Amino acid sequence: MPSESSNEPVKPSNFIRDIILEDNRTGKFGGRVHTRFPPEPNGYLHIGHAKSICLNFGLAAEFGGKCNLRFDDTNPSKEETEYVDSIIEDVRWLGFDWEDRLFYASDYFGQLYEWAVQLIKTGKAYVCDLTAEQVRQHRGTPSEPGKESPYRNRPAEENLDLFQRMRAGEFPDGSRTLRSKIDMGSPNFNMRDPVMYRILHADHHRTGGTWCIYPMYDFTHGESDSIEGITHSICTLEFEDHRPLYDWYVENLGIHHPQQIEFDRLNLTDTVLSKRKLLLLVQKGIVSGWDDPRMPTLSGLRRRGYTPEGIRQFCGTIGVSKTNGMIEYSLLEHCLREDLNRRAARVMAVLDPVKVVIDNYPDELVEEMDAVNNPEDASMGTRKVPFSKVLYIEREDFREDPPKQYYRLSPGREVRLRYAYFVTCTGVVKEETTGEIVEIHCSYDPASKGGNSPDGRKVKSTIHWVSAAHAMDVEARLYENLFRSEDSAEETEDQDFTATLNPNSLEVRSAVKIEPSVKTAAPGSRYQFERVGYFCVDKDSSPEKLVFNRTVSLKDTWAKIEKKGAR
Ligand code: ATP
Ligand code: MG
Repeated sequence: MPSESSNEPVKPSNFIRDIILEDNRTGKFGGRVHTRFPPEPNGYLHIGHAKSICLNFGLAAEFGGKCNLRFDDTNPSKEETEYVDSIIEDVRWLGFDWEDRLFYASDYFGQLYEWAVQLIKTGKAYVCDLTAEQVRQHRGTPSEPGKESPYRNRPAEENLDLFQRMRAGEFPDGSRTLRSKIDMGSPNFNMRDPVMYRILHADHHRTGGTWCIYPMYDFTHGESDSIEGITHSICTLEFEDHRPLYDWYVENLGIHHPQQIEFDRLNLTDTVLSKRKLLLLVQKGIVSGWDDPRMPTLSGLRRRGYTPEGIRQFCGTIGVSKTNGMIEYSLLEHCLREDLNRRAARVMAVLDPVKVVIDNYPDELVEEMDAVNNPEDASMGTRKVPFSKVLYIEREDFREDPPKQYYRLSPGREVRLRYAYFVTCTGVVKEETTGEIVEIHCSYDPASKGGNSPDGRKVKSTIHWVSAAHAMDVEARLYENLFRSEDSAEETEDQDFTATLNPNSLEVRSAVKIEPSVKTAAPGSRYQFERVGYFCVDKDSSPEKLVFNRTVSLKDTWAKIEKKGAR
């Protein structure tokens, strides 16, 4: 494996950094910077989460601060240990370290309960007997204030008694809630006496059957931030309207008050980044699992061959803003190619093989040709590639009737076989009935060994090859985007978002020919198949049959877009 070279994200200025700089200048948090990444363990992390991870851990590192990993696990019905484990693995893989600061919101259930009691005692929370439906009806509309609950003015002692009995399991699910007493007339719905606790007789993945009441997200998040001494609580824009409530809770509890700051959620073309939709793809069997190489999950991207450095570079490049937008998938691929170009070893592989026979090459001779492992990195050295009389080249690298501007092999045309010889096509053999070309015949120039011109004469093209007698047969899985690019799957509803699936998102090539140097490649090893694309050894590989995932082709559409834009 190539060595991991450092490739840190660029750091353009952004508004969050400016806020922190200002806070440090005024001494708001005593110069401390403490952030957190707070996933809910109800699915696998995706590339959107990577943006948040890079931001939170990146800012902490930049300011000599700390970043916690905290599971926001307040919803027992959708959360699982499998998700916790995958999230831990993925954040680590991305290259970030929370040291000993791995936390769970569920660890704070006891403290949250105490704080709820405190708000009841100070007349700021009450037990409400309205059903969920009735609460909705009382909520009002954007233009009309809500209606106060008939239970709003219960005396504190009664609230306390009822809340204790809620906890003791005396009441069925949904029969009562604990609500904060704020303002049913507020223009902000989040402030219209939001629910703090609900009754839910369900086992939690960590606390088991200890609790039958669970705190709502809004009454958990800021309080968890406060307990951990978080200074800057960075979240996505949809929480902007929740900020007054975040502030209300910490202020009315009189506890440490972190600053919530919102940034734009990542949206990517040609895929979906909603955990709900990703889960549907898995459940419906449209993909093979959360780590299917077509998934935009970190485990899918990793299996596909993406590098942590490439993803971090992408996250640094897109930056953060205050308005949601849509990022081209090709930008992610561009960042990845830049990284893979530096680190992936080159090998020769033929995806669609056709046989070439060098008629004037000795029958039994095998020569070991010197090949460069990575022209970008001399320290990666060279290797020997066996050359012999019968080879494979790509079917598309030969045309019997070459169109104009086609410079690859054709009858009478001389080309260079990479690292080997100049060869000239002398004829073809066709299958009698179909007319398909089954063999291409060539002669070679022994004076051009290594692919060097013997007399200064030039050839217009260099093609890759593998020696037939030495080639290994491997499988290659060629991927395209999961969704057709003309439609936006993200905006389509659950039932029919699968209608825009790309039917060609996976093509399996089972008879790919590859040079023998990859024989012992372990799953996860990354290569550039010269002239073809970047590939990575899949976990489905066995010693009998290697399986490669195409990570990304060599064609950089982003670079093209950029060029066009520059003109
Ligand atoms: P859910 O609907 O299940 O809450 P979520 O996408 O918000 O989904 P979380 O596990 O709550 O998932 O997210 C953890 C953190 O990652 C949050 O701070 C969230 O704001 C951030 N995050 C999630 N999706 C994106 C995205 N597409 N771009 C940037 N940040 C994201
Ligand atoms: Mg969330």
